[in-house]
Amino acid sequence: MIRTGEQYIESIRDGREVYVNGEKVKDVPSHPMFKPLVDIRARIYDMAHDPATADLMTYEDNGGRFAMGLKLPYTQEDWWKKRRATDAVFEDARGVITRVGDETVGEMWSLFDGQDVLNEVDSQFSENIKRHIEKVIVEDPFHVSANTDPKGDRSKPPQEQDPDFLLHVVKETDAGIVVRGAKYETAAPYANQAFTKPTIANWGSDALSDYAVGFICDLGSAGIKMICRTGFAGRAPIEDYPLSNRFDEVDALVIFDNVLIPWENVLFYRHTRAATFIRATLHRYSAYAFVQRILKFADMMIGAALFNARQTGLEKQPAVQEKLAQLAVYREGINAHLTAAIALAEKSPGGLLMPNQSQLYTGRVHACSNLAPMMHIARELCGGQICVTPDAAAFSDPEAGKWLKKYYTINEQWVSDDRRKLLAFARDLLNSDYAGHRLTFQLFAQSPPFAHLGAVFRNFYWDGPLRFVHKAAGLSDQVLSEKPGGDQDSTITNWFASNQPMMPHDLTSA
Ligand SMILES: Cc1cc2nc3c(=O)[nH]c(=O)nc-3n(C[C@H](O)[C@H](O)[C@H](O)COP(=O)(O)OP(=O)(O)OC[C@H]3O[C@@H](n4cnc5c(N)ncnc54)[C@H](O)[C@@H]3O)c2cc1C
Repeated sequence: MIRTGEQYIESIRDGREVYVNGEKVKDVPSHPMFKPLVDIRARIYDMAHDPATADLMTYEDNGGRFAMGLKLPYTQEDWWKKRRATDAVFEDARGVITRVGDETVGEMWSLFDGQDVLNEVDSQFSENIKRHIEKVIVEDPFHVSANTDPKGDRSKPPQEQDPDFLLHVVKETDAGIVVRGAKYETAAPYANQAFTKPTIANWGSDALSDYAVGFICDLGSAGIKMICRTGFAGRAPIEDYPLSNRFDEVDALVIFDNVLIPWENVLFYRHTRAATFIRATLHRYSAYAFVQRILKFADMMIGAALFNARQTGLEKQPAVQEKLAQLAVYREGINAHLTAAIALAEKSPGGLLMPNQSQLYTGRVHACSNLAPMMHIARELCGGQICVTPDAAAFSDPEAGKWLKKYYTINEQWVSDDRRKLLAFARDLLNSDYAGHRLTFQLFAQSPPFAHLGAVFRNFYWDGPLRFVHKAAGLSDQVLSEKPGGDQDSTITNWFASNQPMMPHDLTSA
């Protein structure tokens, strides 16, 4: 039931059409730009079988064992176990990897919560989402996310430009729907399936649209072409770029050139209400795993900055301590949001346990919007030497190496090789092409910052502050009739609001 790494590797040898750097890829698992991540994903599968990690990575149900990351969450313990399993992966891989399945599977649970909406459209769709959630647990595929289309001119609706700028249905057949368009998808070239759904776009006011379509896409389907950005692995030696070479998660523009999606994989179709619902609730669960990645990234920044301050004797300077403390405050802010999101978790409309939405979404804004300034502080603490230090080859050179050993050996404890390694690690974490890419990933991969703030607006419990100010300022009862966020009024917002449980502000009122 839980696949092995080898089974996963064989599953992506399905004749898929993948291009990278002007080359058609013959074998994805062994291609140097994909191999590092394929190997990590395979190792995650193997960790579920490894006696040292199997208990952390799996759970038992009816005599079978399944992956912890894919389990439907019903209890707080489920969430703590998910968090521990993800941490175990980072420890094993010695770095952060994001799009490896557990971070995207929760998007399907959001649709599971919307079964009322799906049932209004067509009860077959509600059956399909239940079956796919079960299928993921039983068959253990590598699941990713597809939302963002190229979009074209954002000021025009898709009907007024090349219609393929947004993915849409071109034909219905007895076997299923035929779709055309394209999506940006991280990890798709080496994953099995993608939950494919509409992006944030101008839906207009029509109840039905060919663009309102959501489905599970088998990434080996005929008509799919994946055109990848060039990877970072192999561009420069691993000694100099240890993260670029091991953790680059390659993104692709996935082209749908008239791809048949069987009816059993269609999760909604034509009803803009279903599309609006999934856009409003998409990251209800998956934001947890996404933000957990930033927590580990913060640990990497703190470790690199503190080791550097220790090596160079700067740790005792109060001004340096203050900057380290700022990194710690950032880190603990993320930790507090993640922890509180589970401590104050809420029952979802579908009967699952969802992280406290206000804690989760405000935590995501805290983690993402402060990432750039925190990287800047960590870069400052590491000093200018992270960008002027020669590469490993120069350190091994018989002539140049002598000088580098002299100037990079700080004392008996900190010899030149360790200093070089730390500076190379910090450069790749904070300064390299890969570092910039990761920063942009965190900014956009779960939709752009304005959408993160939109999620906060929809989920913060505004009534609490309003009630208190009403009392403290002695306002008349008349003012309470005005609904917060009234301008957001729409059928779907009303539906969402009516299903939303009361959100406790703190444990005392819980
Ligand atoms: C490294 C990386 C990996 C990614 N991986 C995936 C993936 O796996 N799956 C996937 O589906 N997508 C993925 N994406 C795409 C990502 O979801 C999009 O980049 C993101 O949703 C923004 O869309 P866009 O790039 O088209 O920007 P645009 O829609 O062009 O927006 C650009 C900017 O315009 C402004 N803006 C636009 N619309 C509004 C508005 N309504 N209100 C206020 N401001 C607005 C904002 O400042 C916004 O940031 C990835 C992106 C990156 C960078």
